[in-house]
Amino acid sequence: MSEKLSFVAPTANSPWGTYLSQVDRVVPYLGPLARWVETLKRPKRALIVDVPIEMDDGTIAHYEGYRVQHNMSRGPGKGGVRFHPDVTLEEVMALSAWMTIKTAAVNLPYGGAKGGIRVDPKKLSQNELEKITRRYTSEIGIIIGPHTDIPAPDVNTNGQIMAWMMDTYSMNVGGTATGVVTGKPLHLGGSLGRVKATGRGVFVTGREAARRLGMDLRGARIAVQGFGNVGSVAAELFAEAGAKIVAVQDHTGTIVNSNGLDLARLIPVANKEGVVAFKAGGDIVPNEDFWNVACDILIPAALEGQITAERAQKTTAKLVLEGANGPTVPQADDILAERGVLVVPDVICNAGGVTVSYFEWVQDFSSFFWDEDEINVRLDRIMMNALNQIWDTADKHKITLRTATYAVACERILMARQERGLYP
Ligand code: GLU
Repeated sequence: MSEKLSFVAPTANSPWGTYLSQVDRVVPYLGPLARWVETLKRPKRALIVDVPIEMDDGTIAHYEGYRVQHNMSRGPGKGGVRFHPDVTLEEVMALSAWMTIKTAAVNLPYGGAKGGIRVDPKKLSQNELEKITRRYTSEIGIIIGPHTDIPAPDVNTNGQIMAWMMDTYSMNVGGTATGVVTGKPLHLGGSLGRVKATGRGVFVTGREAARRLGMDLRGARIAVQGFGNVGSVAAELFAEAGAKIVAVQDHTGTIVNSNGLDLARLIPVANKEGVVAFKAGGDIVPNEDFWNVACDILIPAALEGQITAERAQKTTAKLVLEGANGPTVPQADDILAERGVLVVPDVICNAGGVTVSYFEWVQDFSSFFWDEDEINVRLDRIMMNALNQIWDTADKHKITLRTATYAVACERILMARQERGLYP
């Protein structure tokens, strides 16, 4: 009998609550390994740190930071760092757990971890951003490392922030430890293809799902929520394949154009000022209307909990590609399944980023760097193999792709757990 965690009280649609319900759904498919399932329902280790910095105006500000190592049965912890004003320990716990499932689903030799700082980075100067990153890295330095836990970019973090993290960690250990973070700039042991990898993985899995559904990508209408590194890259690749991007939503609002938005013009504007600034290219509509837009494919590529029961009821999409982590709440998952909408779950759909992170880490250790073609060919192969295996599992048990992904991943994790045994 296990005690409940004292430091989190998840609700049904909260990220950790969503994750727990996803684990509960896989238990019937785990056979004798179900004995170990409680392992997945609690993080191995969670660190809360105070991050004080001197602001440009001379005041001292304190921020709350986290690093959660959910599971390390199959290898070092792996997962991004998020800077966002709404980050909480509970959210980081869920995100770290989804990394455990994700790395196992695509069979990378990693566990799952995640970090974050509760801050709005848009309100910081470049100097303050560097200070907060370095102090946070130093605080979590006691648990991260190239062989223990390897951070990477996530929402609102990028190559420059990874460079500061790598430098801070390296200064503290007295060397140059390129393998301590991934998603670094190319000059510092970064990998070709990493920036576009997550969006590319969404495209590769989405193209295969569309093929299996008999959906022609030429002329397919796509709605994209979140137009950062994931959403905009996926949109571009789908547009190249002949699809029409009919709606895009970001933090500034929602733009729609049933003839297809001109991405070559939208992307530069969106990167600078947000999608609403591109009003000449489409109609600006209230944010809730995004979910009613007539479309064939829906790509949530923003934050958790976006596809609620009500929105799942409304969407006209036949295929949902989860570029974000945890965008669909469990009740909405059931509604989409009942309505015959196919969901390619986050833990496979957006695994392209961590897959190329793995390539980066391997290249750093071998000090031998691959060309972009080699990276993309290997990435596509890993994503396709994983998707095909999950599809077969879903067909065999007549379950959703999400539960099938959890079945494949949890078997790998819990088998490793069982083989390692309990210490002492
Ligand atoms: N933040 C990304 C994710 O959610 C990438 C993590 C990584 O590369 O380690 O999968």
